[in-house]
Amino acid sequence: MNAKRLLNTFLELVAIDSPSKGEAAVAAYCQQVLKACGCTVQLDTSATLTGSDTGNLFAVLPAKGSPTRADSAGGTTNPSENISQISTFSDPFCNATLCFSAHMDCVPPCMGVEPYIRDGVIYSRGTTVLGGDDKVGIAAILELVASLAENDRPHPSITVILSVQEEVGLIGAKSMRLAPYAKAGDFCYVLDAAGQPGTVINAAPYQHSYRATYTGLAAHAGIAPECGISAIQVAARAVAALPQGRLDHITTANVGTITGGVANNIVAPQCVVTGECRSHDLDRLLAVRAQIDTILKTACPEDTSANLAPVSFAASTQEQRIQAEGAQTSQAQAEDAGPAKELAEGAQTQQAEDVGPAQEQVEWEVNYVGFYASPSSPEVILALEAAHALGLPAALERSGGGADTNVFVAQGLRAVSLGSGMDQVHTTDERLSIVDLENLARWIIEISYQFNGGEVKARARGVQKC
Ligand SMILES: [Zn+2]
Repeated sequence: MNAKRLLNTFLELVAIDSPSKGEAAVAAYCQQVLKACGCTVQLDTSATLTGSDTGNLFAVLPAKGSPTRADSAGGTTNPSENISQISTFSDPFCNATLCFSAHMDCVPPCMGVEPYIRDGVIYSRGTTVLGGDDKVGIAAILELVASLAENDRPHPSITVILSVQEEVGLIGAKSMRLAPYAKAGDFCYVLDAAGQPGTVINAAPYQHSYRATYTGLAAHAGIAPECGISAIQVAARAVAALPQGRLDHITTANVGTITGGVANNIVAPQCVVTGECRSHDLDRLLAVRAQIDTILKTACPEDTSANLAPVSFAASTQEQRIQAEGAQTSQAQAEDAGPAKELAEGAQTQQAEDVGPAQEQVEWEVNYVGFYASPSSPEVILALEAAHALGLPAALERSGGGADTNVFVAQGLRAVSLGSGMDQVHTTDERLSIVDLENLARWIIEISYQFNGGEVKARARGVQKC
């Protein structure tokens, strides 16, 4: 590992603008470095789907020295064929390829990043994020490839996967066709997590999100409020009843946005509420989702006039009379007989009969599926033992967030995330210690060498050898 080169790579990477959808310049930088190291590099054609100015990047560094079973197998590209092979052999390393992944986009504000170093820590100038999320991962992977390429020591083939638009919903990873670069059963380490190098993120939640659209009826708020149905009021009823926050140690829910209304003098005809729920347990997630769905769909009362009856204000009789007149009640005797309050109620009843209750439409999206890799799974053992071998604090952690890892696991890869030293991410206080940057690179280099053989692999392999 060349620490000076690694730091230089990182500083060059963060200085390249790469907002989501605008990753082309970073992709070009990586392509050049990877090719110079002897990799074959390809950008996929997902740009037409994702709207990015580049595709996802795939690169392969050929193995060096004694080939593993995976290398000698000739790179089979049929996933189903490989799944059957995996079930035939108990050795998870048989036919498995070693992949490392990071994402190329950054969250805003990320344009014109100016990194500087103080006391061994890299910061931005303070008006932007640093972009260490996830350029620390990219820099470490580029250093891995450079180190393996210039060293005589045998290593397995290395597949590099760099995605676009991770930050806006794992869009790049979801648009990937992994074949022929990766297949079910392959090991994939995603360098995109908080926590010190040595920390393996072996669990992440399932996430589902919703969009509830409430449609009421516009009316003049001062002259004829009885003729309107406030979609905001209906939405508010739902929001107040929704489960929110940390529901248990593995489950959360949140209302993320609420938008609606037109002006203060118009009864709001529409209101949109969006939110999400997450859980590490799928059954628990589905139960919470069902609860949320029910609340969202029962916020609209059957009888709007009854359920949305306005609080009785201490309005004067004259004011109530004006209100009733404005409602254009059919009761012609409005001005002549009966208490004004009854007239106002009469206007509401008629309005409810005419337009019916408010309407709601609730749409759900499965954002990503969760994952859990047991402590005894080979991808976890390999990463922990490699950390241990380097004297890094080896640890397992659950994540509360999603990453490309979730998408890769859903496609059958043995994927986990690696703590990459990133700190205060998604803020302008983001920072990265140079020691963590170096340890991350050292860690994945060690993983790569251990993957090719040795004691760690034997322990992770279990009972049967290739
Ligand atoms: Zn990230």
